[in-house]
Amino acid sequence: MHVELRDQIDTQSGLVGVPRCRFCSAPLSHTFVDLGMSPLCESYVPPDRVGAMEPFYPLHARVCEQCLLVQLEEFVAPEEIFSEYAYFSSYSDSWVAHARQYVGSVVERFGLDQDSQVVELASNDGYLLQHVVEQGIPALGVEPAANVAEVARERGIETVVEFFGRELASTLAAQGRRADLLIANNVFAHVPDLNDFAGGMERVLASGGVITIEFPHLARLIEENQFDTIYHEHFSYFSFLSARTVLRAHGLEVFDVEELATHGGSLRIYAQRADGGGRSVGARVGDLAEYERRLALDRLEGYTGFAQRVAETKWRLLEFLIECRRDGRRVAGYGAPGKGNTLLNYCGIRTDLLEFTVDRNPYKQGQFLPGTRIPIHDPEELERSRPDFILILPWNLTDEIVGQLSPLRGSGTRFVVPIPEVPVI
Ligand SMILES: [Zn+2]
Repeated sequence: MHVELRDQIDTQSGLVGVPRCRFCSAPLSHTFVDLGMSPLCESYVPPDRVGAMEPFYPLHARVCEQCLLVQLEEFVAPEEIFSEYAYFSSYSDSWVAHARQYVGSVVERFGLDQDSQVVELASNDGYLLQHVVEQGIPALGVEPAANVAEVARERGIETVVEFFGRELASTLAAQGRRADLLIANNVFAHVPDLNDFAGGMERVLASGGVITIEFPHLARLIEENQFDTIYHEHFSYFSFLSARTVLRAHGLEVFDVEELATHGGSLRIYAQRADGGGRSVGARVGDLAEYERRLALDRLEGYTGFAQRVAETKWRLLEFLIECRRDGRRVAGYGAPGKGNTLLNYCGIRTDLLEFTVDRNPYKQGQFLPGTRIPIHDPEELERSRPDFILILPWNLTDEIVGQLSPLRGSGTRFVVPIPEVPVI
């Protein structure tokens, strides 16, 4: 079923130009936070385009009063965003370590072996499936970005370059490739047609199979003020309750959940077929649902008040940067993650306040940040120019980065972490 996301006049509510919920299609008339106009956060600008126009789209997150799914409208087709993706998971050491640990735990817990089939959706450059293949367990990746899928294939990981949904799920099921373990790590939030994706997961799952889904936890986003994790590529922002509601509607039952430290606080949900997956529902499911009810995430009031806190953070960060410049101190960035682009565009930070940033990913080096046109250099540039402060844009990797840059700290450079407050370390 295709749902029109925007009606000229909504017949039920009488509201004009109100977008519809991507899950339940109720009109979306409540703002969660409005971050203004922003470019696509992964559209890095090459030097020959630095004088050209670039498109900006509204970054206005709304909450559905029916199902409480926090979401952005789809302004840009996923084909445009994800067909050539700049994010190679393997460039983060801690992310690769996280994947290795995950594979070890699920292989043991669910008794996977050479007769099992593992399928990963949004398998990126094979950073995770390489650990599955190493153990002799059959693995298949699904990855729509051809450039990152190619890297996975070079690693010997079979990868289908396609968007996942009911259609591809049917094809895989017909080929006898139903998943005993279906992995959807950090993709659920990026799916514009949520019902097609969840319906596809149900379709490709073997009868006793397990789905694990990881996504940033909305409760953490709200409690820790992580507004910079809102960007156009990230269509939905799930609480445990809203994710469970979506899965239930597609015949999937959540039987366990874990809280993870990744991406500033994520959930890993374990689901099975509602029609006889065979596992009993663990105590953590009820505990987490109760925790979210205490935060009022089961009603609209849990979502109001966030916008004001976001504005306060912007003002505080700008005060810090302006004071630095007035005192003649130099500030550079570390990292060029998507979240950094939301932050810098929302706050209106340009090269007068942040001279440059650096990134380990050679694909980004020599390019410019979208919107702000801040140049991205090799990390060695920090050694050469020795700024007074380094603003850490991927704040979720602060410990790793401060560790890597400890020689600079020894020579007087200090670190600033923008979220949730603006502490200097
Ligand atoms: Zn809804």
